Amino acid sequence: MEILELHLEKHAVLRTNIDGGTHAAEPCPLCRISQEEVLAEFQRWKLARTKTMKGHRERLMLFHKDHIKTLDEGSIGEAYLLLMKIGSKFFSYTDKWAIFEPVYATVPDHWHRVASDLDRNADDDAQILKTPRMIIDNHQGTLSRAYPDHDSVDPVEDPS
Ligand SMILES: [Zn+2]
Repeated sequence: MEILELHLEKHAVLRTNIDGGTHAAEPCPLCRISQEEVLAEFQRWKLARTKTMKGHRERLMLFHKDHIKTLDEGSIGEAYLLLMKIGSKFFSYTDKWAIFEPVYATVPDHWHRVASDLDRNADDDAQILKTPRMIIDNHQGTLSRAYPDHDSVDPVEDPS
């Protein structure tokens, strides 16, 4: 019993050293993604399929290789361009798909963006409508931005 306790204590000390004593015990799921789950790798980014597909045929995630919470505008632009390029292939089966702002992100501390098709029968349809998103139209080659509840609001007559 004493030996076991000693062992556990040693283990705990080691852990504290590795984590620097500041982080919670739970490791970041994006940092832990195995190489087999990575669909493509770039200089600063990795592409993976999301763990939960939420009823979509395709649902992707582009994330920074490092555990960084915020990025400068140039890097964000680079990530969006890359994701748009990737998405045009992965979402070629559909007319429109979107890149979502991380308002509902489950991993807010590691910069990433999720993209999926806009299947109205998907499980997260209601959440999609509440999420600011950039919509890419494959056929027309256009980009548009949509904001929460915009789709559900009736058109208002222009008072002017
Ligand atoms: Zn991370």
